[in-house]
Amino acid sequence: PQVSMIPVSALLKEVVLLTESEALMKGCQINLHPLQGDMIISGDAKQMKQVVLNMIRNAMEAITERSDDYIGKIEVGARREGAEVRIFISDNGKGMDLCTLDRLFNPFFTTKENGTGLGLSVSDRIIKNHGGCISVSSRVNEGTRFVISLPLIQ
Ligand code: ADP
Ligand code: MG
Repeated sequence: PQVSMIPVSALLKEVVLLTESEALMKGCQINLHPLQGDMIISGDAKQMKQVVLNMIRNAMEAITERSDDYIGKIEVGARREGAEVRIFISDNGKGMDLCTLDRLFNPFFTTKENGTGLGLSVSDRIIKNHGGCISVSSRVNEGTRFVISLPLIQ
């Protein structure tokens, strides 16, 4: 792992830029919320990008898989909470039932035909290795919100 200081705003901007055209083709909007001040975390930038990228991809897939006609929206942002930053990625996609919520961090758990089921288990490991944690809340046919909490550099 290559450890450096990572500005959260740059991290989120880069990943949103990377996924924006794909999202537009799928008819969903990604909204990157303006951040309050410069929040810096320490860690492997490549791994951090991988985590956010997988969450945005999951959000797009959840929107594509929702069957009714609606406008898919993904909200990305971060807030300072004491000595931590909370990065959120939320979508109004198909959501998850309790059975899925129970297993989504298990290696190889997937509900997708071509899924690997590795994205979230790897992401969970990466975030824990950085002294943080991931939490999730979801409702079927309403959407899902992932929150990544990480220690800030003072
Ligand atoms: P994969 O994307 O390959 O299926 P992940 O580990 O990234 O593997 O996700 C595991 C499972 O968690 C997905 O198959 C899906 O059922 C569920 N999931 C993850 N993110 C979302 C989301 N934003 N909305 C609905 N379900 C999700
Ligand atoms: Mg995935």
